[in-house]
Amino acid sequence: MLAAVLHEPQRIRIDELDPPEPAAGQVRVRVRAGGICGSDLSYYFKGKSGDFAVREPFILGHEAAGEIDCVGADVTGLVRGQRVAVNPGLACGTCRFCRMGMPNHCLDMRFMGSASTFPHSQGMFRQFIVVGATQCVPVPESLGFAQASMAEPLAVALHAVKQAGSLVGARVLLVGCGPVGCLLLAVARRAGAHRVVAVDLSGKALQVARSVGADETVNAADADQIARWSAQRGTFDVVIEASGSPAGLDTALRSVRAGGTVMQVGNLPAGQSPVAANLVMSKEIRYMGSFRFANEYAVATDEIASGRIDLSPLMTHSFSLAEANRAFEIAHDRSQSMKVHLSFD
Ligand code: ZN
Repeated sequence: MLAAVLHEPQRIRIDELDPPEPAAGQVRVRVRAGGICGSDLSYYFKGKSGDFAVREPFILGHEAAGEIDCVGADVTGLVRGQRVAVNPGLACGTCRFCRMGMPNHCLDMRFMGSASTFPHSQGMFRQFIVVGATQCVPVPESLGFAQASMAEPLAVALHAVKQAGSLVGARVLLVGCGPVGCLLLAVARRAGAHRVVAVDLSGKALQVARSVGADETVNAADADQIARWSAQRGTFDVVIEASGSPAGLDTALRSVRAGGTVMQVGNLPAGQSPVAANLVMSKEIRYMGSFRFANEYAVATDEIASGRIDLSPLMTHSFSLAEANRAFEIAHDRSQSMKVHLSFD
């Protein structure tokens, strides 16, 4: 099988590897589409994502959909040819966090396409993957593979909005309008937000934010506007930080009203971030984080399959596996792309 293997920063080579064989309880999936995520871009360009560094040849990708190719022993409910979205995470089910209902913090998590463990958990940008049968969520034949692969970032958005608490009637500021940011915006709308303002440095990103439901968009370089939001103990009931930049977090802390909530979804750089942290105390900010997702993956799949969330404005480009390096270049250019997919023959 062919696999897109990252050998050094900005150099993916298409390597021929032996296809993996499913053990009991596992299935082999023929991958048909995969989305490039911000963490993939970070691994590709910087050799690390947050605190996780690449230390060996590494197959990226954790947003994918495909068809069941063959099933291992003891697998029921999945048959060859069935169309599935694949949850990249497999929690152990027995550690103390799994038992607390927090599988995203599993101490033995195998999350595909993540360098959080060594050897790394290899990712999905290859023709065949072997996963636990429980990681596969069947989707309708009518749903495109690239659309189905969006279940993963949508699950991230669903988990974050759930963590933030009720948005009914809330004035919401979204900082960072990348693919996950725009999905957060769409979910916040469905969750009853009264007014959503979106901030980004990219005009293209702000245009997409408007198309998925932002009432107003503001360029993040507009310091005067941010100063106005900061005045009189802040403006927004809930600020969702989805830029992953210290400057974005600083804007969030300044713009939230006293007693409001800042939800950290963006992946900040490793180490320390210089922000106006004392505002957490002086404005009694509820500063919370959201990491990956827990049990939202199947719900996300259904939201997409039913058409309740329109993904079309987000899906801007698709490339073949052989064009993987080009795909990463385009995905990195926020002036022209939003979500970029790799498609597999
Ligand atoms: Zn566990």
